[in-house]
Amino acid sequence: MNDHPTETGLDPQDWEAFRARAHEMLDRAMDHMMGAGEGPVWRAPTEDLASRFSRPVPQDGQGGDAVMADIAALMPFGVGNAHPRFLGWVHGAGTPSGVIPELAAVAMNANLGGRHHGAALVEKQVVNWCKSLFGFPEEASGLIVTGTSMATIIALKAARDRVLGFVNRAEGNGGGGLVGYASAEAHACIARAFDLLGLGSDALRKVPVTDAFEMDIDALRQRIDWDRARGLTPFVVIGTAGSVNTGAIDDLDALADIAAEHGMWFHVDGAFGALGLLSPEIAPRLSGIGRAESLAFDFHKWMQVTYDAGCVLIRDEEAHRRAFSDRPDYLSPATRGLSAGNPWPVEYGPELSRGFRALKVWAQIAEHGVAKLGQVVMQNCAQARYLANRIAQEPMLQPLAPVSLNICCFRFVAQGLDGDALDRLNDEIVIRLQESGIAAPSTTRLGGELAIRVNITNHRTRLADMDILADAVIKTGQAVVDEI
Ligand SMILES: *Cc1c(COP(=O)(O)O)cnc(C)c1O
Repeated sequence: MNDHPTETGLDPQDWEAFRARAHEMLDRAMDHMMGAGEGPVWRAPTEDLASRFSRPVPQDGQGGDAVMADIAALMPFGVGNAHPRFLGWVHGAGTPSGVIPELAAVAMNANLGGRHHGAALVEKQVVNWCKSLFGFPEEASGLIVTGTSMATIIALKAARDRVLGFVNRAEGNGGGGLVGYASAEAHACIARAFDLLGLGSDALRKVPVTDAFEMDIDALRQRIDWDRARGLTPFVVIGTAGSVNTGAIDDLDALADIAAEHGMWFHVDGAFGALGLLSPEIAPRLSGIGRAESLAFDFHKWMQVTYDAGCVLIRDEEAHRRAFSDRPDYLSPATRGLSAGNPWPVEYGPELSRGFRALKVWAQIAEHGVAKLGQVVMQNCAQARYLANRIAQEPMLQPLAPVSLNICCFRFVAQGLDGDALDRLNDEIVIRLQESGIAAPSTTRLGGELAIRVNITNHRTRLADMDILADAVIKTGQAVVDEI
């Protein structure tokens, strides 16, 4: 091709050199992933790294080789969630299989806002698979999004707009008097969705939990009656299937009944826990998900898809579409050509341009199958129970919550220490474990006490890692106590 002298483009000048560099990065990526279990779980970013990423904006490009060098320097400084002893928060570990669809997605550079093209078929396929896995009917709608936070906003917008007859979309009524319910253990993204939707986070009633950290059903009924008596309109009840602190699963069937009784929308936050449906052992406890109006969950946690990817499913396709669709005339539905393929994803969510997240999700499910993905889920739950048994045998470790799924909360105890001192001790243990790189649990507060929180959403974790962790907590705890 002959470029006009004043024209330019961004393709490589030398494709062979570029190909070699890309192959080199592929090898580095393989080495990185093969070594995921070696070395420390985490290391703090160095000054060298910080200086590489605090340069002024380049007027002239530094070229591909220099970019490669900076990226290679960056790679060891991840969060650590690929490591088998990354046991904090709820992070998926990812899989090497993700590399292949991601390479293809880069090459296609598809925009999934709409139009008639192959990538859209893949997203439809993934959404349809999810409907069948989670007990939603064929007519239900769904969208692949960044994660459960976005999925929650979309689901609650459909719930809010339906109860307001959709007139609020033009009139700007955020929904004065609308109230919703979730347990006190529900994820913060739900209150944030209430905030973003103009309902106000106070309109989300945080219902107390039982000793098992599940929503107290009687307390929910009382709160609904209390709100009704004050002329408010209860419009949504949100069940948590796998709470972020302890993995607790609310009584989803009871919530579905109450929602039906009061004409409320029943939404389930199944960010990671919904994936329990892939495991025959756990599935019966989650059957209430099939009665939900909407479900928000993540692929990037327990399904081990690389970040980011989540999903929203909505039973009432019309409510979902009417909450988001505002097709301008120049994008009117076509039946042929590139503008066909209606309805478009843009009619089911707030974003127009959307990347091809669906391909890596599709590939993960297609390559491994849901039986194997479910086996990983079950295995993680067995590991959490194993850790709980180990804790029960250790006089210096005290359980702080029952193990419902894959999360085990406990603390180190020492004679003569209680209250704040014990909280500080356990906080220090966790920080030292992270800094040593041996293991990375996180902390949470349960019943006012600081807990060491071990979450296992990782296909690389093994039972032996539980013993390494328990040994390290005891050894570190004793070391800290000796310093006091
Ligand atoms: C992680 C999580 C969320 C938020 O999901 P993102 O994918 O991080 O947006 C919501 N609820 C629960 C229970 C979670 O674990």
